[in-house]
Amino acid sequence: MTLTPLVAFDLDDTLYSERDFLHSGWRAVARAAAIHGLEAGEAWRIMSTAPDAFDALHARLPIMTVDEMLHVYRTHMPDIALYTGVDDTLECLRSRGCPIAIITDGRSLSQRNKIKALGLEQYADYVSVSEEIGADKTSDSPFRILMDMFPGYHYIYVGDNPAKDFVWPNRLGWTTVMLRESRPGLNIHPQTLPQEKIYAPQRVVSHIGELTSIL
Ligand SMILES: [Mg+2]
Repeated sequence: MTLTPLVAFDLDDTLYSERDFLHSGWRAVARAAAIHGLEAGEAWRIMSTAPDAFDALHARLPIMTVDEMLHVYRTHMPDIALYTGVDDTLECLRSRGCPIAIITDGRSLSQRNKIKALGLEQYADYVSVSEEIGADKTSDSPFRILMDMFPGYHYIYVGDNPAKDFVWPNRLGWTTVMLRESRPGLNIHPQTLPQEKIYAPQRVVSHIGELTSIL
């Protein structure tokens, strides 16, 4: 019997560009800086040209603490968009009866805001955020919890980061797929394929739409 695929996706740099989130966060911090009297365009210029954005802004605007900036950055409702083709791919998977999950590492509020802003709630049958379950993708927990909740599927994990996205799904017998960045250096994490095979994805695609033809 052929098992139905269950496709679990990473979020950041897999379904949208994490750099867009970074820039959205800087815009929110720039708006907060403007309330403190620094022109938002100047705040943006300082953050986008310094190696450490928030330390540099704090040096220019001491009344605004780095903690305050981090709070704004982490809690703002982001202005971000899905990568081209994600909507169609998720629709296609759903029409085939494949459950869809998101397994992401990060803070609950930040990751949930991203999911809301991207309109992913309508597609995801299950969302796992590391802060909520107390375990990230360097452990088997997020993947095992999904398998316990949805037993009897052909599990697939789609991610971007070979440092942590594929090792546990590989060990648990999943199919692993890496979405290659559309241009070198776009992603936050490097995509150099690891020497150790257990860390490497089994498949590499250059566009999310290819998923529907390889499953
Ligand atoms: Mg990622």
